[in-house]
Amino acid sequence: MKQILVTGGTGFIGSHTCVELLEQGYQVIVIDNLCNSNAEVLNRIETITQQSVIFYQADLLDKVAIDAIFTKHDIEAVIHFAGLKAVGESTQIPLTYYHNNLTSTLLLLDVMAKHQVFNLVFSSSATVYGENNPIPYVEHFPLSSTSPYGRTKVMIEQFLQDAFVADSRWNVALLRYFNPVGAHPSGLIGEDPNGVPNNLMPYIAQVAVGKRDKLSVFGGDYPTHDGTGVRDYIHVVDLALGHIKALERLAKQTKTSIEAYNLGAGKGYSVLEVIAAFEKACGQPISYGIESRRAGDIAEFYADASKAKAKLEWQVSMNLDDMCRDAWKWQSENPNGFSEG
Ligand code: NAD
Ligand code: UDP
Repeated sequence: MKQILVTGGTGFIGSHTCVELLEQGYQVIVIDNLCNSNAEVLNRIETITQQSVIFYQADLLDKVAIDAIFTKHDIEAVIHFAGLKAVGESTQIPLTYYHNNLTSTLLLLDVMAKHQVFNLVFSSSATVYGENNPIPYVEHFPLSSTSPYGRTKVMIEQFLQDAFVADSRWNVALLRYFNPVGAHPSGLIGEDPNGVPNNLMPYIAQVAVGKRDKLSVFGGDYPTHDGTGVRDYIHVVDLALGHIKALERLAKQTKTSIEAYNLGAGKGYSVLEVIAAFEKACGQPISYGIESRRAGDIAEFYADASKAKAKLEWQVSMNLDDMCRDAWKWQSENPNGFSEG
């Protein structure tokens, strides 16, 4: 497989995956409408790799534009990152989330089938395990979700299962990410949230760099070892490499399949442990206060990562200190993200 289409390729995980793809000799075509990313990322990818991606600023809802891109390029596989991802926002504008994430995926699948491209790596999420499964999460658990965002992931997984049953030319890896954090070790690309960050690590980073006064720790009374929420954090470069392993597996297996894989470390850290690791990385205290729980949060989850290890020959190589070091390098060297000033 040489030419890979990456939807959402200028976003946080997509940009890191583009870097790893280019460094491993793939040709990369990116489609992104830049609704949650900045074109400057393309220059940064070029600085890191000394290579460039072919970029189309296009909306996946624009089927004519997507079809033209498939006509122009000999695409062998698609990594589908594009989508809206804010859980809280998805409860406020659910129909926008359903339209953007579901309709665009259906259109993409239609264009792929028309052009006989059946290899697909899809960005799913640990959110598909809902709130009633025991930990660690194993791929065969029943799926459910507590937000419209999460339901888009459950539904797309279901679309793809149904498509495979109907047409076994589909060859699909469903990658269920746990909590991606960190940044490229160069400090040139990283997570650049719009407005107030929803997620823990970017919020801590903004406190450390002086953009926010203090972190609110959402809940200190969970049944965890220190009372704060526990998550399975994964370095975004490890996550990016998981996509390449998934592509390799799709290319080399003799029979097509649809398989879900957890991409996580298989180990959880509490909010207080993340704060302590970040303080070590940035060499300064992080101001925080324990507040009430955030609606919809669960106490603890982490992956059973053994399937990805066995079948994709992939496992994480970086630890929490590496994640904090790289998140801090990115944040401190780019206090305004990709925007100037
Ligand atoms: P991101 O917002 O940084 O990247 C998504 C990209 O998709 C953005 O660049 C955005 O501009 C683009 N996009 C959105 N809708 C589009 C459309 N209709 N047409 C074209 N481009 C469009 O998000 P990310 O963190 O890189 O996440 C990538 C994928 O991984 C998403 O599908 C997300 O749901 C999933 N995921 C993310 C996390 C996480 O914590 N970051 C966890 C689990 C799953
Ligand atoms: N969290 C927090 N303060 C914040 C953001 C998150 O205490 O400002 C906690 C949250 O309650 C959870 C953990 O940090 O226990 C990870 O939250 P994040 O939103 O990053 O990931 P998710 O909850 O989606 O797994």
